[in-house]
Amino acid sequence: MASHVVGYPRIGPKRELKFVLESFWDAKTTALELQATAADLRSYIWNQMAAAGTKFIPSNTFSYYDQVLDTTAMLGAVPPRYGWNGGEIGFDVYFSMARGNAYAPAMEMTKWFDTNYHYIVPELGPDVKFSYASHKAVDEYKEAKALGVDTMPVLIGPVSYLLLSKLAKGVDKSFSLLSLLGKIIPIYKEVIDELKAAGATWTQFDEPTLVLDLESHQLEAFTHAYSELESSLSGFNVLVETYFADVPAEAYKTLTSLKGVTAFGFDLVRGTRTLDLIKSGFPSDKYLFAGVVDGRNIWANDLASSLDTLQALESIVGKGKVVVSTSCSLLHTAVDLMNETKLDKELKSWLAFAAQKVVEVNALAKALVGEKDEEFFASNAVAHASRKSSPRVTNEAVQKAAAGLRGSNHRRATNVRARLDAQQNKLNLPILPTTTCGSYPQTTELRRCKEYQFCPCICTISENDYANAIKEEISKVVKLQEELDLDVLVHGEPERNDMVEYFGEQLSGFAFTVNGWVQSYGSRCVKPPIIYGDVSRPKAMTVFWSSMPQNMTERPMKGMLTGPVTILNWSFVRNDQPRHVTSYQIALAIKDEVEDLERAGINIIQIDEAALREGLPLRKSEQSFYLEWAVHSFRITNCGVKDTTQIHTHMCYSNVNDIIHSIIDMDADVITIENSRSDEKLLSVFHEGIKYGAGIGPGVNDIHSPRIPSTEEVADRIRKMLAVLEREFVWVNPDCGLKTRKYSEVQPALTNMVAAAKLIRAEL
Ligand code: GLN
Ligand code: ZN
Repeated sequence: MASHVVGYPRIGPKRELKFVLESFWDAKTTALELQATAADLRSYIWNQMAAAGTKFIPSNTFSYYDQVLDTTAMLGAVPPRYGWNGGEIGFDVYFSMARGNAYAPAMEMTKWFDTNYHYIVPELGPDVKFSYASHKAVDEYKEAKALGVDTMPVLIGPVSYLLLSKLAKGVDKSFSLLSLLGKIIPIYKEVIDELKAAGATWTQFDEPTLVLDLESHQLEAFTHAYSELESSLSGFNVLVETYFADVPAEAYKTLTSLKGVTAFGFDLVRGTRTLDLIKSGFPSDKYLFAGVVDGRNIWANDLASSLDTLQALESIVGKGKVVVSTSCSLLHTAVDLMNETKLDKELKSWLAFAAQKVVEVNALAKALVGEKDEEFFASNAVAHASRKSSPRVTNEAVQKAAAGLRGSNHRRATNVRARLDAQQNKLNLPILPTTTCGSYPQTTELRRCKEYQFCPCICTISENDYANAIKEEISKVVKLQEELDLDVLVHGEPERNDMVEYFGEQLSGFAFTVNGWVQSYGSRCVKPPIIYGDVSRPKAMTVFWSSMPQNMTERPMKGMLTGPVTILNWSFVRNDQPRHVTSYQIALAIKDEVEDLERAGINIIQIDEAALREGLPLRKSEQSFYLEWAVHSFRITNCGVKDTTQIHTHMCYSNVNDIIHSIIDMDADVITIENSRSDEKLLSVFHEGIKYGAGIGPGVNDIHSPRIPSTEEVADRIRKMLAVLEREFVWVNPDCGLKTRKYSEVQPALTNMVAAAKLIRAEL
C-alpha cells in the first residue's frame, strides 16, 4: 500500500512553536532552546506519520517562519539591506528578512495562493548572487533518518519559486525573473546531490503555480528547468506536486511530459476536473499521487466516495501506481482533534484534523490494496449519515431568507459623493483625517484576564470583574487616542479574541475549537470557527461595547464589525452547500447588527473585509462569479443605513489592482487598506487613471514589524498618496489593527503618524 502526506502543520498541537519563537524574539529563550523545541515537534510529527503507516513522509515542511523564506535562504538570495556576508544563514539574518530589524524593513509578505497563510516574497534581480546557503533540507532529512524515519524531503520547485518572486527595488521592469533559472538550478542540483549522498531516494518538488493561468513561456520554463535537472535526477525519484485547484489542460500536458520526474501529485478535492484530465491520458510508467483527503478543511473524509475515486484512478493508471495523498499540505488545517475537549461527540464524529487525516489517508491506501478496515469505514459512513440528517444543521427560515437574495440588488439609495457631503456636515472632520483600523495592543494583563474568564478551573474572576477590566482597558485606549489627537477613534477591541471568532461565538451555526489553530504567518495563528449549520444572529453582538466608549468622548467612535466574506473565508466552511449561500446567510446577520449600531447612535461603522481578496478563485474563469456574490454580500450588510452613517471597510493587502472595480462596487464611504509594505503597488492602480471616488486611507505604517517610521517617512508616504488621490478623500491610518504590537511601539508610531498628517495639512 502506498500513502503520502503533502506537508504537515509545524506550529505544534498546542502552538508550541509560536510560544518558543516569540520568547526567542524577546530574548527570553536561547537559540538552543528554540532548536530543541523545533526538533521535538519534528520528531513527534514524523513518528506520528510513521506509526499510521505512511509510506512517503515529508520532511523540510517544518519551518521557523515560512517555507518560501527557507528556499530564499537555501539559495542565498538575501537582499543586500540585511548585510549578510555569506556562510550558512543563521537566525539573525533569517528573522531579519522575515520581521525587519532596526536598520532594514522586513521583506514583503503576501498571501499564499487563496489561503490565509502568508509567505515572504523573494526579491530578485540580475545582481543577486545565488549560493547554497542553507542546508536545512538535508539536515532535516538526516535528522529524521537518525530517528529511524526515512522521509521525502520537500522543496519548493525552481519554477514556482521564481514565479512567486518579485523584482527587487530598482530592477528594470522588463527583467524576466524566469531568466534566473539558469542560476538557481545549479543550487538545486547541489541539494539533490547532497540528499542522495545522505541516502534519500525520493524528493517532492512543490510546483503549485502550475494550477494558475500561466502563459506559454512560463510553461516552457517548467520543461526547460526539469530537463536541466534531469541528469541529477537519475537514480532518484521526484514527485512534482500541485495543489489548490486542477491543473489547466495545457499545463497538464507540460507537467506530465516533464523529464526526470517519477510521479505527479494532484488536488482531487478542489481540482474538480482533475479526474477528467487523468482520463484524457497519464504517462504509463509514472506514479499518480492522488490528493483525495482535503488539506484545506476539517471535515471527515467521505471514505466510501474517495475509495471509488481511487479505484477509478487505478483502473486508468494501473495497479500499484496510485498513491493515496492529501489534496495539499495539511498546514492549512487544524492539528489534532484529540485535543478538542469542548466539542460534543456528534460534531466531533463529523471532523478530521491533520492527525486524523493522516489516518484517513492510510485507511484509504489499505482499502485500495484490499485490506479495508471495515469497522473504520462503517463508523465513517454513520458519521456522514448523521451530518446529512441532523436538525442542528438546517434552519428553514434562514434558508428561505438567503435563497431570495441571489440576483437581487442591494445598494444604498444615494451616491457616495452626496453621502460623503452629508457625513462631513455631521462629523466635521479635518482634511486628512487620522484613524486606526480597530484593535489596540492586547497586553499580558488583558490576556490573563481573558483566560480567567474562560477557564472554568481557575475562574477567579467574575463576569462583572471581567467586564470592568474590559471597560477599564477601553477607557485607557480612548484616552490615549485623545492624547494622540486622532480624529476618528476606535474602542480597541479588547473584548475580542479574534475578529472572526468573536462574531462566530455569538452567531448560531458555528462551533469552536480549543486548539484548532492554523498558521497565518510566522508565529501568528488563527483559530477558524467551524460553520456547520445555517447562520443566524440571536441577539445584538457589539452594540454594548461600541456605544459605551462613544459616551466617553466627543470625537466620533467607529463601530467595528467583521464582514460576511471575511467571516466566511476565515472559517472552516460547510462543504455541503455552495459558499455563496453561507455568505448570504452571514450577510443578513451582519445587516441586523449594522442597523442596531446605527440605532444606538454610532455614526461610523467599519465592516472589515480583510479576507475578500484571498477568497478570489485562482483561475480567471471563476473569479467574476465570486466577486459578484462577495461584493453583493458586503452591500447587503449596509444598504439599509442613512446617508449620514459613514460605512468604512478595511482590507489588509495591497494587491487589489486586479479587483479594483469590485472594490469600488462595494460602495463603502471610506476604505482603509494596507499599503506601506508593498512599494506603492496599491497607488500604482490610481496612477493608471482609475478613480476610487470615495474616502481612502492607504496604510502608512507596517503593523507586522516593530520598526517605527519617522514623521518625515510617514509624511513622504502621504505626499505620494496625494500625488495620485484627491486630497479631500485621503485618510491617514496604519496598515491594519495594532493588536499584535506593543504599546511601546504603537505610541511613538501613532505620534509620528498624527504629526505627519498635521505637517502635510500645513503644507496644503
Ligand atoms: N479591525 C481589525 C483590527 O484592527 C482588523 C484586523 C484585520 O484586518 N486583520 O484588528
Ligand atoms: Zn487588516
